[in-house]
Amino acid sequence: MQPPAPTPAAPTPSPRLLHARLMDALKREDHLRKSKAAPAALAAAHEAVTDAMVAYDAAGFDPLEASVPHARTYAVRMHGGLLRHSVAQEWHEAVREWRYGRSAGRSMTALVCDLCGCLKVHYWFELTNTVTGRTIRVGSECIQNWHSPGIVTAINFDRKRLEKAHKRELRLQDLEKAAETDAWLRARLPKLRQTIEKYGKVFDEAEDRVRAALGQPPVKR
Ligand SMILES: [Zn+2]
Repeated sequence: MQPPAPTPAAPTPSPRLLHARLMDALKREDHLRKSKAAPAALAAAHEAVTDAMVAYDAAGFDPLEASVPHARTYAVRMHGGLLRHSVAQEWHEAVREWRYGRSAGRSMTALVCDLCGCLKVHYWFELTNTVTGRTIRVGSECIQNWHSPGIVTAINFDRKRLEKAHKRELRLQDLEKAAETDAWLRARLPKLRQTIEKYGKVFDEAEDRVRAALGQPPVKR
C-alpha cells in the first residue's frame, strides 16, 4: 500500500493579494473616520489595518530588495541609522522590530529624519520599536527603502491623506486672503469655507475670483 501523500502546506497568499487586502482595510478605516462612525467600529477597522500590515510583513516578501542602494552613501547612512536604534544588528532582523502605529503628520518647519539624518522632512511618520519601546520619526522617502511592505503601503496611504489635507488648508488660506479684497467672496465666506472643507475646493466662479484677487492667472477649463 502507498503511504498517504503529505498534506501540502497552506499556500502563502501572493504579495498582490496581501497588498490589496491592506489597501482595502486602509480605505475602509478612512471611510469610517470621515463618516464619523461609532468608536467601536473605528477601533475594529484600525485593528484590521494593523493585522493586514503585519500579515503582509510576516509573509516575508522583500519586494524592495532591488531598490535599496541607489546612492551608496545614503544606503550606508540609513543602514547605520536603523541599526543604531534597533536591538538586532542585521538589517532584515532589525526591520522586524518596528511597527507603524499610524502616527503621522506634516510639519511647517523641516525636521530631521532619525534614519538617514536628512534635514528636509516635512511629512513625518512615527515608528515604534516593539523590543525597546523606542520611537523614531522618519521621512516618507526613507520609508520607500524599508524592507517591510506593510509599513510602506500604510505610510504611502497616509502621506496622500496628509497631502490632501494640506492642499485644503492652502485653499482655505487663499480664500480668506482673497476675501479681503473681493466683496463678493467676503459676502459668501462662511458658505465657501464649508464647501472647501467638505469637497476640497470651491465652485468655478469663486475659484476664478480667488485667483484674480491673488493676482494668479485663471484656471484653464
Ligand atoms: Zn531619512
